[in-house]
Amino acid sequence: MKKIFVICLAITMLFSTGCGTGSSSRSERNPLQSIDTAMGTVISQSIYVEADEMAAESDVMEEAEYASGADDKITDDILQNITNLEQKTLSWRLPSSEVYTVNASAGLESGISLSEDLREILAECLGVSLASDGAFDITIGKVVRLWDIDNWATAEASSDYAMPGAEELQNSLQYTGYKKLKLQENTLFLPAEMQLDLGAVGKGIALDSLREYLAENEAVRGAVISVGGSVLTYGEKPDSEPWRVAVVNPTDTGKNLGYLELRGQWCVSTSGDYERYVEVNGTRFHHIIDPATGYPADGDLSSVTVLTDDGLLSDALSTACFILGQEKGMELAESYGAEALLVDCEGNIAMTEGMGQYFHAY
Ligand code: AMP
Ligand code: MG
Repeated sequence: MKKIFVICLAITMLFSTGCGTGSSSRSERNPLQSIDTAMGTVISQSIYVEADEMAAESDVMEEAEYASGADDKITDDILQNITNLEQKTLSWRLPSSEVYTVNASAGLESGISLSEDLREILAECLGVSLASDGAFDITIGKVVRLWDIDNWATAEASSDYAMPGAEELQNSLQYTGYKKLKLQENTLFLPAEMQLDLGAVGKGIALDSLREYLAENEAVRGAVISVGGSVLTYGEKPDSEPWRVAVVNPTDTGKNLGYLELRGQWCVSTSGDYERYVEVNGTRFHHIIDPATGYPADGDLSSVTVLTDDGLLSDALSTACFILGQEKGMELAESYGAEALLVDCEGNIAMTEGMGQYFHAY
């Protein structure tokens, strides 16, 4: 948890770079910034709102009062939006969520009818599974539960941790495999014992949902929102400076390797071996599982940052590329027209051709 927070702070500090201060123009005032937790991670928001427009809409309140109230409502709404997504759709833990209900349907011969939103999410995930030859696989739930990954972030000490045995891991693998999943129109047939886990795409899905919310809110001129390791940039800053999104150094997470300079709407997701892990007898086990072995992916990469205009895709691809390793990961990102920055275990950086125009190294 502490590590996740440090990363988000680094991102937030970059958000502040170049913000106009001291100007009397309301359209150039500083953004409202907030840091909260939702979806088991840190949510950091920086929202620029056009005060003039809001004031024109209000003939009751003072301009400043109205603007400030609207700001608070926007950041609260954004947080609520993320919480709703978790509670109503994505959580495997909460009985109120659709994924929970789907998991409870495992083995049902009649299958289970999906909402249009979840059907689209699953279809897109299955596409990435196919394209990554199964490296990315949301049917990994049973294995993720065995490792107890979702409790690592809050574990006080790794010494309490009981690692899963090789045999039970091997046994759980028979209940995974995206090819065994049947999606017929909006009915999903989940084989007995199989469990879905959308942890690898939840943050990206949240970015897609927030982008829709912002687009419907005419008062918002620009925003940069970080949901854990995934960042949405939207619109523009009043001073027309680009958004800057930090790329963390995976071998020294208090520092950044550099930053992406972005204009307009983008989604940036990072998957890294430093983000969530547990240490057992001096060996570190991270949270990105190779579905072929049931163990943390043991490739040549320490982190992967993916840049696309789609949140789910940026999140799914960063996870998939991490598991595939440098060569195949690069190919996968390119096949989706996404930009990727891959850091290997020695700290060397490799990038897709287009990433060079956005990335600035320190
Ligand atoms: P991310 O941090 O976005 O790379 O996602 C990692 C999370 O996705 C883990 O905490 C698991 O919940 C889940 N996960 C782990 N391995 C895989 C995998 N191979 N395919 C899909 N999801 C995975
Ligand atoms: Mg991911």
